[in-house]
Amino acid sequence: MGLAVYVHIPFCVRKCNYCDFPSYPVAGMDVDGYLAAMGREMSWYKGDIAGTEVSTLYVGGGTPSILANGQLEFLFEAIRHNFTFEADAEISLEANPGTLDFSKLNLLKELGVNRLSLGVQGLDPGLLKRLGRIHTPGQALEAFDLARRAGFTNINLDLMHGLPGMTEEGWRQTLQQAVALGPEHISVYGLIIEEETPFGLEYEAGSLELPDEEERARMFAWSGEFLTESGYNHYEISNYALPGRECRHNQVYWRNEKYLGFGAGAASYRHRVRRTNYRQVGQYMAVVSQGRLPLEEKEETAPAQEISETMFLGLRLTAGVQRSWFLQRFGIELDQVYGDRVAALVSKGLLLDDGDSVRLSSSGILLANEVFCEFLP
Ligand code: SF4
Repeated sequence: MGLAVYVHIPFCVRKCNYCDFPSYPVAGMDVDGYLAAMGREMSWYKGDIAGTEVSTLYVGGGTPSILANGQLEFLFEAIRHNFTFEADAEISLEANPGTLDFSKLNLLKELGVNRLSLGVQGLDPGLLKRLGRIHTPGQALEAFDLARRAGFTNINLDLMHGLPGMTEEGWRQTLQQAVALGPEHISVYGLIIEEETPFGLEYEAGSLELPDEEERARMFAWSGEFLTESGYNHYEISNYALPGRECRHNQVYWRNEKYLGFGAGAASYRHRVRRTNYRQVGQYMAVVSQGRLPLEEKEETAPAQEISETMFLGLRLTAGVQRSWFLQRFGIELDQVYGDRVAALVSKGLLLDDGDSVRLSSSGILLANEVFCEFLP
């Protein structure tokens, strides 16, 4: 397995009402300076990773597609200057439908992007507005069409359910419309209310009208049934793909394998060390300009913690954790570490154990966080 690289573009047109990702409104930001800082950060790893090719690159955000064509060219030149890629590397880029046009899509294709992840989130005009998204349903559909015309054959659509004011029928229509487009991959997330966001504040004030817990559970369950019937493989709690189109990059995270992250707030994990960069863009750039690695945190993971993280991250995958894989990676039998816990969760109906692998049952998927807590060290 080669290297997995993440590149963070922390700029958006404006903040959405639910978002607590490390992203900032782009107005007044020194985007060129930020890209140059990232290029410099990458160059410091060049010697360290010499001889290792990149198998997956994920340009996420924020809104990477907010970059102007010249800035995208600069970014990819910096990336290619510092890394060599496997011939069939997966190169993903996240795009907001409100920031795409045909020329940018063609350029992305030329730059080697072969997987486009469109942040559609919804196809109901009122709900998109309520979320604070900058695009309309029409722009989302047009972006998909333009991406196909530019030659993208691997497209993900991000969608959200459990939104304020969303009905079950409304969600069904959205998902049916999305599937009718024929994307290779669909990510379906339930809205999470984060503190300090506009939605978080409304929630605290009691003025956010969310579907109740049962409705949200039904939206999630129906999504799984419908997408599976439509030919998508439910391969991770929130992710569905046509056969062979599972996101390779994200599977690196769920298998707790090594990756390198660049940019403000980006994380890396190698040799059991997790490093996180300064989240604030100004601070990130200032530290890089002093010639220092922009690390806000560095934590060595104890072996027991690595095993625990690998277990609960692996359970996010519907294929679960294979005993043979676990033994090969850690040199110890899974049952020696977790035999009792697995048996208890199987008897509660939350895990399935076929002797080879351990995975979440359908009730376990709904109560995934409770199951994961059982594997904390
Ligand atoms: S576009 Fe994405 S990253 Fe940017 S504010 Fe909205 S949700 Fe957050």
